[in-house]
Amino acid sequence: MATEYFTVPDNTSPLEYRADQLEQVGARAYDMVVSAWACEACKLAVGGPPAMILPVVNYRLPADLEEWVVEAGAGAVEDAEIPCCEGCGENAELGHIDYFAHHSAMQVDLVVRWSPAAGAQILRWSPSLGFGPMPAMSEDEERLFVRDALLRGASAARDRDAGEEADAILLEAAEGLPGESEWLDFLPWLSGREKFSVAAAIATGHAEAHPEDPEGHFWLGQITVDLVARKLWGEEKLGEAEAHFERALACQPRHPFALLGLANVARVRGDLAAARRHLENLLARTPDHAEGLYTLALIELDGNPGRALSLFEQGAARRPRDADYLRGMGRALLALGHPLEAQVAAFRAKQLAPRDERIDELLLAALAAVKD
Ligand SMILES: [Zn+2]
Repeated sequence: MATEYFTVPDNTSPLEYRADQLEQVGARAYDMVVSAWACEACKLAVGGPPAMILPVVNYRLPADLEEWVVEAGAGAVEDAEIPCCEGCGENAELGHIDYFAHHSAMQVDLVVRWSPAAGAQILRWSPSLGFGPMPAMSEDEERLFVRDALLRGASAARDRDAGEEADAILLEAAEGLPGESEWLDFLPWLSGREKFSVAAAIATGHAEAHPEDPEGHFWLGQITVDLVARKLWGEEKLGEAEAHFERALACQPRHPFALLGLANVARVRGDLAAARRHLENLLARTPDHAEGLYTLALIELDGNPGRALSLFEQGAARRPRDADYLRGMGRALLALGHPLEAQVAAFRAKQLAPRDERIDELLLAALAAVKD
């Protein structure tokens, strides 16, 4: 049916497995295919192959799905290893194939039931309602089915590390269904992989569809800062980044990451007083904001290492697995004239990030300071 799939675990009923998946991840639950087999002679159900779970989406509209299942179903019958009847030993016959795809807005699965005899039929299924006729979908309900298909397809591709496939689906999503909040969840992942054009398409769509929501504006600012930081754009673009962050703050005063963004723009420009002001403003509202603590600590490191140490320590308490805070503590301790304690912080950092050369530099500096 599809080349990439896995199966429902042994001794688990497919429908129970399905109910569990829907409860856990909703529209992101991968599609499931179950086949039903029977012996004509004995009039008995025969156990077939395990239910398949498909981490790919090959359709958009319900009609596309139906067409695809009909085509794939016929192929599957030709390829299938046919189970035998335990009573008479004869080959069993395929009764039908059920293909489950979730519709989160209607809170049911759309099920395409295909049989060699009767062709395709559209049903609905949910853990509480069971199988039944699928009600006709309104235009809006069809649109929301497409949204779920795109969301599921992009999530599945991301889970499989098929980055390019996920990017293509997300670009289609941003252009076809702009402003759906589900797309925002992919922005950290896209930015981390430097897929800025897809990220910008999502953020632009969101900002235009929901101008009152800070997230689209924030992300447009963040993407701009990232592009400048990687020297793909010049520093003259920082004014645009600032304008996006200001718009986010107009929607939500003290939006923590918009304030952090403004602080970073100010730092790049060398305006440390402005950077400090934005960060103090951020920490006044969210005192344990790890990135805010870190950025302010970096600014304080030169003139006020005691405060820098305290800020790095607070950040390390929030992010105990992140070596940067420990490395920062080491730098502050060194500046305060405590090289032995700086060594301890550096060793702890090295355990978390063994290959970070900046930690080696800190260790060497601390060792040299002990000898002096
Ligand atoms: Zn039989």
